[in-house]
Amino acid sequence: MLAEIKGLNEECGVFGVWGHPDAAQLTYYGLHSLQHRGQEGTGIVVSDGKKLKGIKGEGLVSEIFTADKIAQLTGSAAIGHVRYATAGGGGYENVQPLLFHSQTSSLALAHNGNLVNANYLKHQLEAQGSIFQTSSDTEVLAHLIKRSGFHQLNDAVKNALSMLKGAYAYLIMTETELMVALDPHGLRPLSLGVLGDAYVVASETCAFDVIGAEYIRDIMPGELLIINEKGLTSERFSLSTTKAICAMEYVYFSRPDSNIQGINVHTARKNMGKRLAVEAPIDADVVTGVPDSSISAAIGYAEASGIPYEMGLIKNKYVGRTFIQPSQTLREQGVKMKLSAVRGVVEGKRVVMVDDSIVRGTTSRRIVKLLKEAGATEVHVVISSPPIKNPCFYGIDTSSKEELIASDKSVEEIRQVIGADSLTFLSTDGMVRAISETEGTQGFCLGCFTGNYPTEIYPDTLQYYYQKG
Ligand code: SF4
Repeated sequence: MLAEIKGLNEECGVFGVWGHPDAAQLTYYGLHSLQHRGQEGTGIVVSDGKKLKGIKGEGLVSEIFTADKIAQLTGSAAIGHVRYATAGGGGYENVQPLLFHSQTSSLALAHNGNLVNANYLKHQLEAQGSIFQTSSDTEVLAHLIKRSGFHQLNDAVKNALSMLKGAYAYLIMTETELMVALDPHGLRPLSLGVLGDAYVVASETCAFDVIGAEYIRDIMPGELLIINEKGLTSERFSLSTTKAICAMEYVYFSRPDSNIQGINVHTARKNMGKRLAVEAPIDADVVTGVPDSSISAAIGYAEASGIPYEMGLIKNKYVGRTFIQPSQTLREQGVKMKLSAVRGVVEGKRVVMVDDSIVRGTTSRRIVKLLKEAGATEVHVVISSPPIKNPCFYGIDTSSKEELIASDKSVEEIRQVIGADSLTFLSTDGMVRAISETEGTQGFCLGCFTGNYPTEIYPDTLQYYYQKG
């Protein structure tokens, strides 16, 4: 599905390199492959061993970084970030990595995820005299590190991390070290790789493939990995860990060529489609998937059901961010810029339309209409995840609870709203088993589906998510 029209957005992606002469250039390529995780801002900070230097801006990786700018970023270590702004809002100051200079050393921070106790900690820190430069929750960590009172940086960082609640995959860089930390539930993906003698870290393994790096392992929940001239050291800042990786990373957010915890995302999606075919057998002529993220599930549905897969919907790849979007009136008149139905495929056919999720229902209604206008006699919508009934507090912009169509409507009511001939969602158990036969529901965050979140949610965070929109 197309993130920009769906109302479901990933917040960020991070990438880091240690020990390579072309660190900034590698980070540029790594960030480019993570662009789907955030398109609103990007930045790279490098270390030449003596100082940190950064360039950042609002826009896409290819818009912010020219060859000249990359050439200015000399050094053998770098961290980078792509951002989708929700928590704390947009604006240049919130674009990461955040860079802090003090008289003794500098610190750069890149964060993927969202802290659920950020406001609580900010109030405390401000009461102690901290002045925040940004409205992003990421900056809290820098203040906690500076105020920890520990002499050794690793102790200060561990102490600071132990105060955070929520989802965080952090890259923390000084002149002489790169630190990598993952929250005690491992809510967001974060992997380690090697490229020759250099180490690389990335939100998704697709970033390793693009630079020819080799995957080593995933960062463990509660782990602080320290990379410096002595090599790699793994420490723990929390022993109380329960793995709960975001199930939506597999359903929708991550790229199909990425592996998360050893499981290929395309394969997981295909399995979701296969399970749907068993849970929702439909008498139909053709299966089609909503591009791009639902294609894998549609292939799986077709394979398991024996109904042929066809490209019934195509996406216009050249609708960029700066393209003048049609007004609501023009949209209603049928100006369709992003998706088209292929008449030759769907005309006179009973179509199974596979999609990964329904957020507000408006996009699904539009696509069903497109298929019917192109001559489909029936449109059966099958969704490769359970209904999203609750907001996400961990860095995914899912809209407020009031905007989520499944929060107060039954499946039959949603079917009527989107105008489909039938509507089926994959069961929670089916989704989890499609990702991993062995992990069980305990290994995943399923908060937006079930309302059971792996961490406590602080009252002001709850208030923010229930009022926004
Ligand atoms: S609440 Fe949903 S989107 Fe958010 S981390 Fe959990 S599974 Fe992912």
